Formats: sequence, C-alpha cells, structure tokens
Amino acid sequence: MSENGHEPPSQHRHEWELLTRMKGCHSWKSVYNCKSCTARLMTFGEHSGKYDPEFPFAKEGCARCAALAEGAEPRYELSVIER
Ligand SMILES: [Zn+2]
Ligand SMILES: [Zn+2]
Repeated sequence: MSENGHEPPSQHRHEWELLTRMKGCHSWKSVYNCKSCTARLMTFGEHSGKYDPEFPFAKEGCARCAALAEGAEPRYELSVIER
C-alpha cells in the first residue's frame, strides 16, 4: 500500500515525437521527446553496404564509410533518458 502519492513510472507508456534528426556521412541520429512526460529517446545507427545497398551517404576519404561499404557490422544504439 502506497501512501506517499508516487506513481510507479512503469505504468506510463511513452509517446515519442520526433524532435530532431541528424545525418552524418555514414550514420544518423534521432532525438525524440515523449509527449506526455519529460523522457527523451535517442537512437543512433550506421548505414551498411550489406543491408543498405544504396548507401547514399558513403563519403570518399572516410575510413568508417569504407569499412561499412565493405561489410563491417553497423552499430545501432538506443537510449532512453528519464528526467
Ligand atoms: Zn513518457
Ligand atoms: Zn563516413
């Protein structure tokens, strides 16, 4: 029995709204804010020559672009910041 008035945060379902998207030559990053609380979601991913045959951002002279175009495993990260 809770008498201090605190709601368990696990009852809340975030509604993510895209705030900003940034594109690099071989990666992208998106930031979302929850519409109904102050949480923030960030995703980061890399393009891959293996899964993404067009690989539109491949840049000459970038070592990571070259590695990804040759089949290196792309990274993907997702993090939620509860504030
Ligand atoms: Zn939320
Ligand atoms: Zn690159």
